[in-house]
Amino acid sequence: LSERLSGVFDRLTKQGALSEEDVKTALREVRVALLEADVSLPVAREFVKKVQDQATGQAVTKSVTPGQQVVKIVHDALVDTLRGEGDPGALKIDNPPAPVLMVGLQGSGKTTTTGKLAKRLKEKEGKKVLMASLDVYRPAAMDQLAILGTQIGVDTLPIVKGQSPVDIAKRAKQQAMLGGYDVYMLDTAGRLHIDEVLMDEVEQVRNVVEPRETLLVVDGLTGQVAVEVAEEFDAKIGISGVVLTRMDGDGRGGAALSMRAVTGKPIRYVGLGEKMDAIETFEPDRIAGRILGMGDIVALVEKAQETIEAEQAERMMKRMMKGHFNMNDLKMQLEQMQQMGGMQGMMQMMPGMGKMAKQVEESGMDDKIIARQVALINSMTKKERANPALLQASRKKRIAAGAGLQVSELNKLLKMHRQMSDVMKKMSKMGKGKMLKQAMK
Ligand code: GDP
Ligand code: MG
Repeated sequence: LSERLSGVFDRLTKQGALSEEDVKTALREVRVALLEADVSLPVAREFVKKVQDQATGQAVTKSVTPGQQVVKIVHDALVDTLRGEGDPGALKIDNPPAPVLMVGLQGSGKTTTTGKLAKRLKEKEGKKVLMASLDVYRPAAMDQLAILGTQIGVDTLPIVKGQSPVDIAKRAKQQAMLGGYDVYMLDTAGRLHIDEVLMDEVEQVRNVVEPRETLLVVDGLTGQVAVEVAEEFDAKIGISGVVLTRMDGDGRGGAALSMRAVTGKPIRYVGLGEKMDAIETFEPDRIAGRILGMGDIVALVEKAQETIEAEQAERMMKRMMKGHFNMNDLKMQLEQMQQMGGMQGMMQMMPGMGKMAKQVEESGMDDKIIARQVALINSMTKKERANPALLQASRKKRIAAGAGLQVSELNKLLKMHRQMSDVMKKMSKMGKGKMLKQAMK
């Protein structure tokens, strides 16, 4: 994807707002890229349409190309789509003992993930966890979980040979109640492919324990297959979330997007290796970066935006903090405002000026008014500019006449100056560092 996209984007080097043509060209490639990253066709199509509407007409940040900007927009839209509601890492495990059912195909990483989550619950939330293997088909499966349990210091249900998965689930539930466990995790058996027997079995277990969470574990490298698996499990069993494993590999993560779009179920965790702490709460921007394979460009655009905002804020601060704020400063400010998209735009960026921006809006002040204000200031003498307190009635009349305007307009200007001085005094007290931070929020 990267090469293909950069090729197109290199051609989009002119600055300014994104034209419809820019966006279309870039998005054609984005769509191919999504498909290559295993995103399903309808999902890719719908996604591209959404981005197209968003991107057209957006201003291009200075120092990045339109192409890079489109990538950023696509990235943000991906993050938006991938993000579920609430905190993906917060498992519903109140009302102990809370059953957590782990389902998925064989080899997807269920047993490993069961151990990882148990360890997290124990260490991060201080929960008392019981794990039970319901895998009666592979002789080593139960031992595998028991070994993990010893390794991470989490109890496992004692192994009793010859029991059915449902019987084991019942035993686990009882043991969890008797033993005062907060959570009991049921690690089910998988098959290489979805089949009726597997589904029926998991369904029975579900009916017996009524899990608080049913987590589907899918191999992040399997792409489109993962989406089908998610659909089927959700339809038959009902899942509350997905754990994507093997994201430490070179999987594109496109399955995540499709899965989210198709099932509407949140991705909760990402497995990043075989070790017991190689698991993280799902973070949409990481996967988005993977899908696009262009994390560096996204970072670049973000950086450019931040730098520009910081530069603007800092320049303005410096000017305002310089000594007292007289008419010369105000004039400079006004001229600056004209360059920066008018008063309101600028004031909204300044701490403590939101209210004034509103007043400005209400008074219908626009850029023409700024020009008149500058004319008023030009009509003042040097002394008057340095010390606006000198302005008594006769001087006001002279100044207004000089600018060809009414005294009432001059009064408005003076009022605005007073208000701004007040704000500035407050800001000086706050200290510069704090102010800058606030300005950039
Ligand atoms: P199960 O059949 O679904 O229970 O799968 P297992 O938990 O036994 O995992 C199968 C294999 O995948 C094991 O060798 C695990 O160590 C490995 N595995 C599980 N999760 C991850 C992961 O996130 N990354 C990597 N690289 N390997 C994993
Ligand atoms: Mg297993």
